[in-house]
Amino acid sequence: MHKYPKPTHLVRTPDERVNWPQSIPFLLLHFLPITLIFTGISTTAVVLFLVTYFGRMFFVTAGYHRYFSHKSYKLARVPQFIMAFGAETSAQKGVLWWAAHHRNHHQFSDTERDVHSPRKGFWWSHVGWILADKFKAYDADRIRDFGKYPELVFIDKRDWIAPWTLGITCYLIGGWSGLVLGFFASTVLLWHTTFLVNSLAHVYGRRRYETDDTSRNSLLVALLTGGEGWHNNHHHYQASARQGFFWWEIDTTYYILKLLSLVGIVKDLRQPPDRVKYSGRIGDEVLESH
Ligand SMILES: [Zn+2]
Ligand SMILES: [Zn+2]
Repeated sequence: MHKYPKPTHLVRTPDERVNWPQSIPFLLLHFLPITLIFTGISTTAVVLFLVTYFGRMFFVTAGYHRYFSHKSYKLARVPQFIMAFGAETSAQKGVLWWAAHHRNHHQFSDTERDVHSPRKGFWWSHVGWILADKFKAYDADRIRDFGKYPELVFIDKRDWIAPWTLGITCYLIGGWSGLVLGFFASTVLLWHTTFLVNSLAHVYGRRRYETDDTSRNSLLVALLTGGEGWHNNHHHYQASARQGFFWWEIDTTYYILKLLSLVGIVKDLRQPPDRVKYSGRIGDEVLESH
């Protein structure tokens, strides 16, 4: 295995194609922030934007990813539901859909069966796969552990409820400006920073661990996504709730989870053991062992 495996191109199967007509609403949403020219930008809308961006980023990374996909800590049933609902306010589809596809990504990273490898094209890994008919459904067997909760199945099937709830709330708090900036602009930005973990974090950055995929560590992606940029660490040891393995690897999602564990909401927060942190390394970085 080379330090940076040559990203040979993988050919997408004929059914791995974007459904352009059905993607029009998604594409049009990207232009909605232009209407801020008419609504103006109020202070309330700016505050809403910051709260809904960083707040939802936490729910996406701590919820969809570290909890529902990887079970890297434990939650009681009510906080589990709140985490799922909060994650779904990001308009990234149902919690079971998200986690089932993500588990596929780890099982088949950067092979033909990976749903979103950048070896099938950067834009495919970033957003194309989400707009393809092929991945509208998910393999329920992959997510049986959470599929047994009827409340999660309910909001997974009705994945519009959470984003609509947030959108209406933003309108009630901040009017049109609050809706456009605090909900729509924030949602578009949140989509693309989340998607960077699937695209850029497999293309750009450094590799510390000799994983069987193209995952990278990137401070830039980590800062934009609340700690998800330490993606090579994460592929090396998925079970950890902490993705920044060392103190200088900023991982704000983990810091919040740590605080929640101190008040007893989060339990069994999993850490990377030393044997994991110091093994399987490519040796491109000089690190002190303790
Ligand atoms: Zn993962
Ligand atoms: Zn990955």
